[in-house]
Amino acid sequence: MKEKLKIAVLVINGTLAVFAWAASLTSFLPQATTQTLEFTTAVISLCFIAFSAAKSLLGRVFGIDVLASVAVLASIVAHEYLAATVVVLMLGGGEILEDYASQRATKAIEKLIEASPQTATILENGKEIEVRADELRTGEIVLVKPGGKIPADGIVQKGQASVNQSSITGESMPVGKAEGDDVFSGTLVELGALEISVTRAGEQSTYGRIIKMVKEAEERRAPIERMADKYAKYFTPLILGLGAVVYLFTQDIIRVAALFVIACPCALTLTTPTAIVASIGNAARKGILIRNGASLEKLNEVDALVFDKTGTVTSGKPQVTEVRTLGNHTHAEVLALAATAEKCSEHPLAQAVLTKAYEENLDLGCSDSFNIQPGVGVCVQDTDCHIAVGNEKMMEKHSIMVSDEVRALMTEGSPGQTVIYVARDDEIIGSVLVSDTPRKDSETIMRRVKSTGIKKTLLLTGDNAQAANHIAGHMGIDEVASNQLPDEKVKQIRKLKTEGFTVAMVGDGINDAPALAEADVGIAMGLAGTDVAIETAGVTLATDNLDRIPKLLRISKATIRIIKQNIAFAMLVNVVGIALSIQGVIPPLLASMIHEGNALIVMINALRLLRVD
Ligand code: ADP
Ligand code: MG
Repeated sequence: MKEKLKIAVLVINGTLAVFAWAASLTSFLPQATTQTLEFTTAVISLCFIAFSAAKSLLGRVFGIDVLASVAVLASIVAHEYLAATVVVLMLGGGEILEDYASQRATKAIEKLIEASPQTATILENGKEIEVRADELRTGEIVLVKPGGKIPADGIVQKGQASVNQSSITGESMPVGKAEGDDVFSGTLVELGALEISVTRAGEQSTYGRIIKMVKEAEERRAPIERMADKYAKYFTPLILGLGAVVYLFTQDIIRVAALFVIACPCALTLTTPTAIVASIGNAARKGILIRNGASLEKLNEVDALVFDKTGTVTSGKPQVTEVRTLGNHTHAEVLALAATAEKCSEHPLAQAVLTKAYEENLDLGCSDSFNIQPGVGVCVQDTDCHIAVGNEKMMEKHSIMVSDEVRALMTEGSPGQTVIYVARDDEIIGSVLVSDTPRKDSETIMRRVKSTGIKKTLLLTGDNAQAANHIAGHMGIDEVASNQLPDEKVKQIRKLKTEGFTVAMVGDGINDAPALAEADVGIAMGLAGTDVAIETAGVTLATDNLDRIPKLLRISKATIRIIKQNIAFAMLVNVVGIALSIQGVIPPLLASMIHEGNALIVMINALRLLRVD
């Protein structure tokens, strides 16, 4: 409504001004009347601009409108009534155009919100009931038919379907879903129908979180943005002072008016927010959620990239390749014991062990208490024994010696595999070997990462050296740090930082949260990943596809490059414009055109960021 009032005032005042101008050219009105008319439009313009200047002064901002008010006042004093009106018309019209441009940047975000699921069909005693999606509760069963949007995160109970997850991952290839699979809110069932048990709804759901993060990103401001504001704060008094000096020397109020108009740092203050919103919106469409402008800015400086291994550079779907036994323990015994312990863990390795045990229809014991030890393994108290599974460090923690002989028996001939030792009551009874493949295209992706100016890549893992080196070699990662506990991972990152690197860490699991927080920028993989990791990360990738990492780096580079271009361009125009208007070459009218042109060029340049790939 306010906007409409502004536009109405501008249009009416503009029409009056054109009428007065026509009258002065054709002199069909008495000169005094024309003069009065021109004067009136100028005063309306002054009120118009002074109103918004007063508002920004109250908010302690020395913005464009303050300078513009002085410029309009100066024009009126110089009897340049038409110039005064046109300056305000240009500024007002330009503002409307700028709004339009920045709305285009925000649209990417609005589209996200519009696409969020609104209603859901729940099944209650076999009856279908329509409810609001944000009112779904955990455990309710929802039915999604072909063409329907999945209203909440959940697990498929019944049915099969191909689901298009592009709304959260940016990848349009549909994924097959069947009983037991995880599904995410905001994704689309293309073929087939699903009955889903709700695990997270509303703001807690995947899509809800995406929207929340993107909104937050829009609200928070990047440091570079604040810099522009600061600049405007010093700039305005400086220009006012310069205006006073020019007036002292030339006594020419028109020059001063032109100076004030051209010097308004509009373009300068607009460029950064527009660029950042455009980039965050663009990235969101690709399944890259950037928390705020500061992360985007920091990413540009990153020159060391650290990867967690399991679940990050590897598929996260490891598979059991072999079960080895010691003494006269049996294959089934070792696997069943391991699976009993892994039941309480969410680690990808645990999933592998469990899958294998279910495949073999083994009976699993039930455990009374469990203890997950990040980065080493897990131990549980079974009804009649104590079970510890994990790597060598896990065994050490339980004072179980892994002798050279046992190590050889358990690991021999299986390079690149993760060895999970299985111990019962302080005795190692065997091991489960698990292999995990690097994610697809990882070599090409690493090459692309390096082409964006990353100087060092490091694989950081709690796994053994053999497995780590195998993967790093395959992918082309420069360095490896293996057998790292969560706090050691943090130390590795700190070390890189003291060496002068700006570090980004890509990780997924709970044990990566401290490292993600320690890094200059934390990048969490996969929305299905751990909540803690997502909360601490500056960037979350909604997809497991590693190709988002070079994309993210490119978007960040492009953003900063365009912001710098814009700042340089805007400053140049300002400085040249100031010099010319002081010399009286540019009249106020032309000054306002140059000023607006400057702002628009800068905005349009920033909008290019919507298309960076
Ligand atoms: P990464 O750093 O590669 O992501 P983690 O830090 O999650 O790996 O785990 C490091 C190592 O700890 C694993 O390679 C494995 O040997 C052991 N480990 C961790 N959790 C488990 C578990 N639930 N079961 C068995 N071993 C585990
Ligand atoms: Mg991990």
